[in-house]
Amino acid sequence: MSDFEAVIGLEIHAQVSSKTKMFCGCDNDSFGKEANTNVCPICMGFPGMLPVPNEEAIEKGVKAAMALGCNIPPHSKFDRKNYFYPDLPFGYQISQFDEPVSEKGEIEILVDGEKKKIGITRLHLENDAGKLTHTGNDTLLDYNRSGTPLMEIVSDPDMRSSVEAKEYAETIQKILRYVGSSDCDMEKGMMRFDASVSIRKKGDTNLNARAEIKNLNSFRSLEAAINYEIKRQIKLWEAGAPHNIEQTLSWDDDRGTTQIMRTKESAADYRYFPEPDIPELDIDPEQIKNWQDEVPELPMVKYERFLKDFNLQEIEARFYTEDSKLAEYFEEVAKATNPKSANSFVGTILIKRLKDAGKTISDSPVTTAQLIELIQLVEEGTISNNVAKSDLFDEMMSSGKNPKEIVEEKGMAQVSDSGSIKTYCEAALAANPQAVEDIKNGKMKAMGSLVGAVMKESKGQANPKMVNEIFKELMGL
Ligand SMILES: [Zn+2]
Repeated sequence: MSDFEAVIGLEIHAQVSSKTKMFCGCDNDSFGKEANTNVCPICMGFPGMLPVPNEEAIEKGVKAAMALGCNIPPHSKFDRKNYFYPDLPFGYQISQFDEPVSEKGEIEILVDGEKKKIGITRLHLENDAGKLTHTGNDTLLDYNRSGTPLMEIVSDPDMRSSVEAKEYAETIQKILRYVGSSDCDMEKGMMRFDASVSIRKKGDTNLNARAEIKNLNSFRSLEAAINYEIKRQIKLWEAGAPHNIEQTLSWDDDRGTTQIMRTKESAADYRYFPEPDIPELDIDPEQIKNWQDEVPELPMVKYERFLKDFNLQEIEARFYTEDSKLAEYFEEVAKATNPKSANSFVGTILIKRLKDAGKTISDSPVTTAQLIELIQLVEEGTISNNVAKSDLFDEMMSSGKNPKEIVEEKGMAQVSDSGSIKTYCEAALAANPQAVEDIKNGKMKAMGSLVGAVMKESKGQANPKMVNEIFKELMGL
């Protein structure tokens, strides 16, 4: 590898999270539905059908493009991309060719803590094809997916390794989710990647013939396919026969290899022409401005703000900003209490309990208000940190009740009454003469076992600070 560098670009297809399909009123959620039950004459491509662009899908596509830093020209249009394939009942795909809804953006990704800029060539809108299932000699067709709205996001060839490509794809996923344009659920096929890979001598600036690996449907396959392809092309180069024609490849996940499907199509092969059934798309500049204002704070900006505002480690800031809902939750708790307690209660306790319960932050039984109340109970000394993070938290998770209510019901309040603590301490001194002797000889470590004895007897409810003070008082230290 040392003499060579990889040049990688990605095309990402992400399903727009609109209610209905791109050009008809069919439900945009076909997941788990019986084959060919979520279709109509429009998405089946019947003769005479009239596609109508989905305004919600256009708005979500444009907002995604804005979040990727793209320019939004006021004028764009849809085109027919002609090719014949059984999963495409129209004989063409409705896509955007020379006047897409957006172009020329840029995002930043984090690779090993370093920021890197990746150019976005364009984001355009199109509809998806159906699904073919091959069984023995038969092929089954399901058109439920046909007409599903897609954003195709094309990157510049700015990535140099599979790690960067994976980081880029994950960043795009995060951004699309933040802006609410796609759920990007990989399991449901809502996000797929085509990776273009070529190799050149280090220091060269030319672009050599690419191989495009189609339809990678997981981050793991994306990384594996790119690594395989880089190695394959280097071998060809070293054998004196560099890869020199544009090719389209498929990836075999089981075997971990790529296979050549065909030489790569050029735009001319698709005989693009303007879609005659759909009026050209003109978006009012005022509308563009309004949409721009609605784009939320993006993950990288939030990440940097969290580092600064909450004094977090990089890994923590990254963790909280992976998901906008988690980021909001953390921020609300941190602002109402303090970042250190928020970090401890959200980042370790809550997240672990949610994971164990198979839940996410969005369906957390513990609300931000309840968690804030819990932290306040600890800080004012009503309950011990220990109780807050164990029995009381468990009870909040299972009952959904407010912590104050549970503390009263279950008698979990910390014992801060000096009379009761004194009784516990006197009993501990009487029961542990050796520890008392050690402390008198200056072995302060023995204090731990005395405090431990009180905590045990009081079921963790004695205020530890007071326990320490009262021991010192009783022993005249
Ligand atoms: Zn339909």
